[in-house]
Amino acid sequence: MSVHTTHITPALNARFNGPQPDMEIDNVSIDSRSLQNNAGTLFFALGGQNRNGHQFIPALIDKGVRNFVVTHIPDGTEGKANFFVVDSTLKALQDFAIYYRGLYNFPVIAITGSNGKTIVKEWLNYLLSPDYNIIRSPKSYNSQVGVPLSVIGINEHHNLGIFEAGISTVGEMEKLEPIIQPNIGILTHIGAAHDEGFVSREEKIAEKLKLFTNVDVLILQKNEAIEALLPFQIKTFTWGFEAGADVQVAKTQDSGSTILSIVYNGSIFDVTLPFTDDTSVENAITCMVLMLHMGYSHTVITERLAGLYPVELRLQVKNGINGCTLIDDSFSSDYQSLKIALDFLEQHKTHQKTTVILSDVFQSGFDTGVLYAKVAKLLASHNISQVIGIGETISRELADFPNFYPYKTTQEFLAHYRASSFSNETVLIKGARSFRFDEIVVFLEEKTHETVLEINLNSVVHNLNFYKSRLKPETKIMVMVKAFGYGAGSYEIAKALSHQKIDYLGVAFADEGIALRNAGISTPIIVMNPESSAFAAMAAYNLEPEIYSARELRSFIAMAQQKNLSSYPIHIKLDTGMHRLGFQENQLAELITLLRNNNLVSVKSIFSHLSASDDLQFRDFTQEQIAKFDAWSSHLMAELNINPLRHILNTSGIYNYPEAQYNMVRLGIGLYGVGNDATERQSLQTVGTLKTIILQIKEVPAGDSVGYSRRFMAGHTTTIATLPIGYADGIPRAWGNGKGFVTIGGHKANIIGSICMDMLMVDITGIDCREGDTAIIFGDSPSVVEMAQSLGTIPYEILTSISQRVKRVFFKE
Ligand SMILES: *Cc1c(COP(=O)(O)O)cnc(C)c1O
Repeated sequence: MSVHTTHITPALNARFNGPQPDMEIDNVSIDSRSLQNNAGTLFFALGGQNRNGHQFIPALIDKGVRNFVVTHIPDGTEGKANFFVVDSTLKALQDFAIYYRGLYNFPVIAITGSNGKTIVKEWLNYLLSPDYNIIRSPKSYNSQVGVPLSVIGINEHHNLGIFEAGISTVGEMEKLEPIIQPNIGILTHIGAAHDEGFVSREEKIAEKLKLFTNVDVLILQKNEAIEALLPFQIKTFTWGFEAGADVQVAKTQDSGSTILSIVYNGSIFDVTLPFTDDTSVENAITCMVLMLHMGYSHTVITERLAGLYPVELRLQVKNGINGCTLIDDSFSSDYQSLKIALDFLEQHKTHQKTTVILSDVFQSGFDTGVLYAKVAKLLASHNISQVIGIGETISRELADFPNFYPYKTTQEFLAHYRASSFSNETVLIKGARSFRFDEIVVFLEEKTHETVLEINLNSVVHNLNFYKSRLKPETKIMVMVKAFGYGAGSYEIAKALSHQKIDYLGVAFADEGIALRNAGISTPIIVMNPESSAFAAMAAYNLEPEIYSARELRSFIAMAQQKNLSSYPIHIKLDTGMHRLGFQENQLAELITLLRNNNLVSVKSIFSHLSASDDLQFRDFTQEQIAKFDAWSSHLMAELNINPLRHILNTSGIYNYPEAQYNMVRLGIGLYGVGNDATERQSLQTVGTLKTIILQIKEVPAGDSVGYSRRFMAGHTTTIATLPIGYADGIPRAWGNGKGFVTIGGHKANIIGSICMDMLMVDITGIDCREGDTAIIFGDSPSVVEMAQSLGTIPYEILTSISQRVKRVFFKE
């Protein structure tokens, strides 16, 4: 990119203020953590609920950034950099993209729909890249911010664009259309439901179709209801399984593959696809129809479609051998996605040492020398400890890069590298599919059994934002990560939230807090059940105690005196009715005496805990607790002349009693996707999915029994599957014997017989599945809530009982 600052002011309709009106811009950033050539960066200070770009500007000026798009010039920065002042920085980013898009003129394909956008985009990229230099949206950058950023990636070498657009409410597509300016439209599958944000399904479809207002042709599956909503002038090119479509398709399935018979323009030809599921088949047909439109021959179409592969849409974080953390991105290698992967590495690295294993980089549109110079710059700016380059080109082009280890092929690397050369480092594995880096992942991945608890970090952020939206913007949030983050992994949750606005973390015991500190978490941490034996360690690790009794406080003060601490933050717990820990009313006087004129400790907050915030039949009792809290804490504040934070609400409290939010709330179970209230649950996303695989399938004849104590008797011939997960993994034994079920390929399979220590058996009669297929123990279905209700317990118990031997895998889209 090369844009001159003088063009920016009119393009953004901005007011310019700054010392250097004459500068060259060569990249755009919205994220202060991922900057490269600082002097050439144009930084858009986007606002947001959690982070506001404006607050990072002084630090960015120190790092050499000189051009900012802002709504106001932050205090003390005027004159130190160029500012483009606008009313909305998001609109300015979009206006910039419109301006930038206008500098280029080549065919652009735009994709929208409810599902399949990213897959179709990735596949088209694969199918067309032998013939074009393609610019495409990285990952699923399809939002109001993602689309402009995608378009800004265009450079003078590109000759085809493929961009996806997604919307969540009316009015959004009108903004994306002029940014993409597509010539060819593709509508993928449209779901039957209408999403939140739209009144009806028709409204949703009509909004999506606005993307195609100016296209020359729109490709879609023949559908009269949808076509009726099209503005009349749009030319369509349709496909369908029935007569009447421009491209007529018939499909038959073979083991593992699908054969399509295509009738188009009077000729017939066959295409074989290497998969059978309906969604992938539909997406592949969409790609094929686009190739027909672009004039590809039947032979080329048949040849290339046979090579389609499953697309991994997310970067996966996995446990590696010898304490390593792996970031698996073994499906693509282009400049744009390398940039994203390196930013992801920066945010998710768990070790000081970082290694990048990188294949030849493709599809950038740059000349080889220029491209690798950019790659080298990118790697250097991320301070990577060592780079292993695999491929002829990268081996040659990066030969002079410090700590660079070249290999010609993946096989050569695997033959020469010993597993012991990797330890306690974070390894990004990024390679084009043809390099088969999945084999490197297998080599470096910790070998455990196939049961995993998958944690969706996007859902964690979504759930956090749901509760935030119900609170005043200034209310602080403590996130409870006790008991390994309710089983989901306290460190990873804390890390994932470290870029959100989180004020405190809550743990139960000091060692949980120490583990977080050792992993580099710097957020303030409260220890809820501190034991006096751990006080010194807590001070050393900057952990703040809950103080619940005079005896505990004396002991903490004694330690503070001995260690010469002053104003050490403490948190006073009041017992307003839970009768667990905390000061009761008649103990407040003693507390006041201990704290008055005491400089060793400082009361950072006063809090209490509700015993029945989830149960509205106890509304009166809860309100009484809140009233006591209000009165007692006010009394303490007046007597001690202090003004600490106050907090009493847990998840259900936030939901049911937002009026009692004071200055902070303590969010636990809701963050992990479990609401106690049915309506609340609808707004939450599942965080943990416990999965395993089918180890063996067999037929059990009528009259035979299954499992210990012969508790299941087959009434007829029954097909069963054995799964390698049992009560030692934390599956309640009471969930067996027909009570519980697992989900296999979308179908319910009842658990039969008694659950064993490490295994359980399910009835899969009539379900199409194979050994090695995935079985979902809980997640969307059954949900933890459903399990808990059926077992007469609470979701908290199920989540926190999942054994630590179950591997946790974290992902982020
Ligand atoms: C665990 C805990 C919470 C969080 O409760 P949830 O119901 O999971 O939101 C809040 N406060 C205290 C003192 C806790 O122990």
